[in-house]
Amino acid sequence: MKIAAIELYQVDLPYSGGIYLLSGGREYRSFDATIVRVLADDGTDGWGESTPFGATYIAAHAAGVRAGIAEMAPHLIGRDPRHTDRLNDAMDSVLTGHNHAKAAFDVACWDLFGKSVGMPVCDLLGGGTGQRMPVISSIPAGEPETMRARVADHRRRGYRGHSIKIGASDSEGGPSLDAERIAASLADRSSGEFFLVDANGGLSPESALRMLRLLPDGLDFVLEAPCATWRETLSLRKRCSVPIALDELAQHDADIVQLIASDAADSIGLKISKAGGLTRGRRHRDMAIAAGLTLSVQDTVGSHIAFAGILHLGQTVSARSLRCVLDVRDMVTTRTAALDAPLQDGGVLAPDRPGLGLTVDTDVLGPPVATWPE
Ligand SMILES: [Mg+2]
Repeated sequence: MKIAAIELYQVDLPYSGGIYLLSGGREYRSFDATIVRVLADDGTDGWGESTPFGATYIAAHAAGVRAGIAEMAPHLIGRDPRHTDRLNDAMDSVLTGHNHAKAAFDVACWDLFGKSVGMPVCDLLGGGTGQRMPVISSIPAGEPETMRARVADHRRRGYRGHSIKIGASDSEGGPSLDAERIAASLADRSSGEFFLVDANGGLSPESALRMLRLLPDGLDFVLEAPCATWRETLSLRKRCSVPIALDELAQHDADIVQLIASDAADSIGLKISKAGGLTRGRRHRDMAIAAGLTLSVQDTVGSHIAFAGILHLGQTVSARSLRCVLDVRDMVTTRTAALDAPLQDGGVLAPDRPGLGLTVDTDVLGPPVATWPE
């Protein structure tokens, strides 16, 4: 089997909640999605997506995804789409880094591989556990009572976990506002619920320590991505007893090695486009499990196509190691594909269909913005 053609699509994904606020005054209203279709010489196709969380979340942006794909695509025509490690070698040989550009192509090849052998992608990645995966909400930073109401809304809809965004500068309210946000968001906690308090790298060690000292005793949460650098994170890690998760700092293989070697965190947010796709995501999964870390399987954001990748990788992680998956479908108003993965009994299952199990809506995608061979 050989890759015969590659098609590139662009779609806007408006944020479903109006304006999404993150630490550092970052605002997001819509996300720019890049979707790739890989076609094999026998007519089988596969789909993948890479949607950065704007241009200020990590070193990734939507125009860069498409430029990176344009750089790599001519070198991928004619290769076997099922040899995913060799495809990643080929991508690395023409473009260093740029995981976000490699992700959409890598995921599309896994979808194609699964369809070609009549197996779900999770089975190719080691086999699905068959257990429903808890889904986590994504609650933007805001007024404490607004955040409490958003948590309540997601609780009603079956979400068991909540990712609470914090990281107020001193001029915005600083550690005391963040402490109020956490207390309000956890105020109505129900049995079995879990909370991640995510600063997206927006705190200094000093502001994090001040915030933690303002909190009442006994609040159960994990502090995610408190600081933007390794130095700050390790300094905070030594001086606080709250469990820490890393996200933005854990992108490349070497980052996962550093996280484990320096004992920088207890858990990891494994985002597929940040990792560079399912091939590298699978490696990060295995490294994290071997180190005894808890995993949240996510993506930066995305539509149903990105969510399908999350479902299939998450489905391969045992319940002991898997905290949750992020339901990115809930974050955007555009529906790029049909995907049979309803939220039931507090969790979701990867669809038991070949490949990612998607039926892509090509009317929503419109015509491709680029194709190869040109
Ligand atoms: Mg995060």
